[in-house]
Amino acid sequence: MKIIIAKNAGYCFGVRDAVNMAHDVAKKEGEVYMLGDIVHNERVVEDLDNSGAKVVDSLDEVPKDATVLFRAHGTKNDIWDEAREKKMNIIDATCPLVHKIHEDVKNLYAEGRKIIVIGDHGHDEVVAIADQVPKTIVISSVEEAIAQKRIRKAGIVSQSTQSIENVQDIIKILMTKVFDLRFVNTICFPTKRNQNQIKDLAKIVDTMIIIGSFTSANSKRLTSLSKLINKNTYQVTCADELQDDWFSKSESVGISAGASTPDYLIEEVSNRISSL
Ligand code: SF4
Repeated sequence: MKIIIAKNAGYCFGVRDAVNMAHDVAKKEGEVYMLGDIVHNERVVEDLDNSGAKVVDSLDEVPKDATVLFRAHGTKNDIWDEAREKKMNIIDATCPLVHKIHEDVKNLYAEGRKIIVIGDHGHDEVVAIADQVPKTIVISSVEEAIAQKRIRKAGIVSQSTQSIENVQDIIKILMTKVFDLRFVNTICFPTKRNQNQIKDLAKIVDTMIIIGSFTSANSKRLTSLSKLINKNTYQVTCADELQDDWFSKSESVGISAGASTPDYLIEEVSNRISSL
């Protein structure tokens, strides 16, 4: 069976850097604390926990003098303020492309625009983007865009991992609702590249496997995208979830993975498929 792994499957540079930073600090200081999971991948969080990088729910749980690491997808302003007030050792692992989205939002707001973020409600990145200016609107679907009231002047950005198709569909509706609209395309380039590679691969293989946690909206989006092109698309979190019958009529398999999937999981899945 021919196996093709998408060239840039898995970790984006933002997540890779954040995970490496967490490992490095844990190694140097014995421990480091993160508010919530650093990535939406259970295996990575488990590995980090074993190396001393612990997940906490609030800054109150961080021991005195310990270091707190802010995750790749951004952190709300009140948490930043609280950490600074407490004079905590902060390591900012926010991806530079997420910092850029925060800047874009502030600039659009300074132009007198109502800010609309196209993204998943409650997702850490979206929450932090929305927090940059007051009264931000979050829209996740075409239905929500249709229900949106008219706005005179709006600035729109998107969550970095949105699919281009979803953003385009929502913008199309918003164009009928907003008189003066400015859109900054903030889907990040690793996401665009990953989506394009999946679209190309799904066309030429018999079966597609997307590796990623079911808690990762990004991985689920990649699976849906692949399924639109190749109905023999399956999402797994690890090699143990692969099922023999998915490959019974396949001569070729394409593999890709979400931005929070480490290389070793991709390798494990690829090896298991080779051995079938
Ligand atoms: S998905 Fe994009 S914006 Fe988010 S951490 Fe990765 S590179 Fe940065």
